[in-house]
Amino acid sequence: MNHWITGRTKLIGLLGYPISHSLSPTMHNAAFAYLGLDYAYLTFDTKEDNLADVVTAMRVLNVRGFNVTMPNKKNVMQLLDEVTPEARMIGSVNTVLHENGRLIGYNTDGKGYVHDLVEKGIFVTGKRIVMAGAGGAARSVAIQLAVDGAAEIVILNRTADKAVEICNVIRKNVSTCKAEAVELDENKLKEKLKEADIFINSTGLGMHPNEDQSVISSPDMLHQDLIVTDLIYKPSKTKLLRIAEQAGCKAINGLGMMIWQGAEAFKIWTGVDMPVDYIKNEVFDSK
Ligand code: NAP
Repeated sequence: MNHWITGRTKLIGLLGYPISHSLSPTMHNAAFAYLGLDYAYLTFDTKEDNLADVVTAMRVLNVRGFNVTMPNKKNVMQLLDEVTPEARMIGSVNTVLHENGRLIGYNTDGKGYVHDLVEKGIFVTGKRIVMAGAGGAARSVAIQLAVDGAAEIVILNRTADKAVEICNVIRKNVSTCKAEAVELDENKLKEKLKEADIFINSTGLGMHPNEDQSVISSPDMLHQDLIVTDLIYKPSKTKLLRIAEQAGCKAINGLGMMIWQGAEAFKIWTGVDMPVDYIKNEVFDSK
């Protein structure tokens, strides 16, 4: 596998802070090399106060596009020429395409989550979904699920107002999906899970430095037909996913979502499908 930078190499960036831990450069550069595409993916430390300058630099340097991550996903929107209706509904952008001098913003996070489920034979149309957490990732995922035909979404969050805000966006834009916001509490979560098809953890509980924590404390809270998904992928098996397996549930971590959100972005920049099986099996060894 060889990959040389040439005089024609097209640049893709990642703007965020901190970003040195990101898996995106490994994933995209491996995919470019595998397919022999003349692109390179680099990270650029970008905090809120230099975002505007960095976006101007991206234009001037004529990059093909860039990803945007914390803390810039919302603020970048005002610096772009166009934002897709879905990204506007979600209220954040994670992928930008530079086409004919124009910067166009997309959000591929929620699409990545749904694509991973579909790949595993799980279809969201008509499903009753319960989510814990109402941060940026939850917002992308919940709105995409509603757009893709979920029948009902219940969002439980420690700060209930944030769940209310997401539910209001769903009610306003997707009349086919029932949305309910609830303050996060284990008893209420247990009650809501009785009728659910899919449970999503989008809180940081279970991730470093909170590996010993979980929104669910016991397998008794889960019925065995429930699909339990955690947006966290490091560690690959969170405490929640271990509890889900004890309850006999299908348990899915966030690696597939991370890869598929990247695959959606890859297609936007290159017009070519990312070699997802190669990335999963050879680059991330997620067999
Ligand atoms: P965020 O915007 O900071 O939201 C964090 C969420 O976690 C909020 O709902 C917050 O509740 C909740 N939370 C944090 N500490 C909590 C606690 N002690 N008890 C209860 N709730 C707590 O973060 P995000 O960007 O949405 O990311 C959330 C998770 O998704 C992270 O683990 C991240 O790694 C993962 N993620 C995965 C992918 C992927 O591709 N797989 C993509 C993005 C994010 P409050 O609102 O009350 O603070």
